[in-house]
Amino acid sequence: MQTEQIISSLLESNTFIAKKNNECLIIDAGAQPQQIAQKVANHKVLGLLLTHGHYDHCLHAVEIANHFGCKIFASKKIVETLSDPAKNYGETFKIEDFSNFVLLEDEQEFSLGEFEIAATLLPGHSKCSMGYLIDGTLFAGDVLFSQGIGRTDLYGGSKQQMLQSLITIKERIPFEILASGHGDMSNAESQKRNLNLFIRFLSR
Ligand SMILES: [Zn+2]
Repeated sequence: MQTEQIISSLLESNTFIAKKNNECLIIDAGAQPQQIAQKVANHKVLGLLLTHGHYDHCLHAVEIANHFGCKIFASKKIVETLSDPAKNYGETFKIEDFSNFVLLEDEQEFSLGEFEIAATLLPGHSKCSMGYLIDGTLFAGDVLFSQGIGRTDLYGGSKQQMLQSLITIKERIPFEILASGHGDMSNAESQKRNLNLFIRFLSR
């Protein structure tokens, strides 16, 4: 699998394209369909996966799904966040029609084409934060960054849940590459230090 990164103009959130043979997945929707189309080229888009409901990751979700003719995959808990601008921080942004969504359970494994996807709910930054492990790459949204972790002071955030989610990542998600919602990608080796640092910090 080959992962390409687009840095969007919305708080510099990342949109990723994961490619395998002639198919691909899109992860998060801060970038515009035209930007994504350039990277997708002639790959068939099998789905759009949302890591959580904040507007900088979801603003163009419906447009992207319509453009590429695919479904949107997200935690079932995303409905509350996307329905309310006060919870997704998008000023007037909200989604009311979820008919094109596939709403996922807290832990769900599914496949799209040749992509095997293990979804794990990782609350703490938001109630609906979902990590997707695909071919050794963890798309973690705003839970875990190359250096640091996500904010826990936004709506639905929780330090206690963030601690549990970091422990879940460390102990139960066998990733090699980390693709975060903002900033650079990193790897398991450099995350050993980062994860342990913040697990200790939040345990105090
Ligand atoms: Zn966020």
